[in-house]
Amino acid sequence: MNNIIIAIDGPAGAGKSTISKLISKKMGINYIDTGAMYRAITLKCICSNIDVKDEKSVIEICKNSDVDFRDNSIYLDGINVDGKIRTNEVSSNVSYVAKIKEVREILVKKQREIGLKSSVILDGRDVGTHIFPDTKNKFYLNASAEMRGKRRYKELIERGEHVSLNEVIKDVICRDEIDSNREFAPLVKADDAVEIDSTNMSIDEVVECIISKVKS
Ligand code: C5P
Repeated sequence: MNNIIIAIDGPAGAGKSTISKLISKKMGINYIDTGAMYRAITLKCICSNIDVKDEKSVIEICKNSDVDFRDNSIYLDGINVDGKIRTNEVSSNVSYVAKIKEVREILVKKQREIGLKSSVILDGRDVGTHIFPDTKNKFYLNASAEMRGKRRYKELIERGEHVSLNEVIKDVICRDEIDSNREFAPLVKADDAVEIDSTNMSIDEVVECIISKVKS
């Protein structure tokens, strides 16, 4: 049993999911988007009219939710929510849900269970520091806040959302602030992670850089 575990962490909009998906295809391994799980719980809170700052209610929602991955898609209580979790509304609320210790414990348990089944690439904020701290394949993907905001803005516009670039850049910075300063498993580069600044790199260059380091 020599499963490979690749951890890709970094701030919002650094390109983690695009890059992880490509690596999963190229290497023939599973992909787990850990952020999608926090987004799914956030979506359920919004749909249930629960304030994401009401921790007790959010924990209750999380305890009573079935969040799972099948064929690289995210399922909430048996329903595919790939599209619904990417809205700006979910993005601007998700960090409040993700800072709750009990929510993290429930989702991290699940992430470890799925991750240990086969070789896998996971992207998130705490993969290399907390979920799988023993893996030797740790990467911290970064890019300037402006570039990250521009990437997120493009995604949202393509989905038909009405947002301004400034608003999206502000949201990305705000999310990083909450994610980096929370008490439990904050966003931080693991000491032994390889940092890659993708601001001036193409997607293919980043993919090749990671694969060659994993194989070396
Ligand atoms: O990666 P993505 O931007 O979809 O993540 C959404 C949010 O989920 C992050 O801003 C963060 O608050 C939370 N998250 C987390 N830990 C992870 C992955 C995501 O706290 N491992």
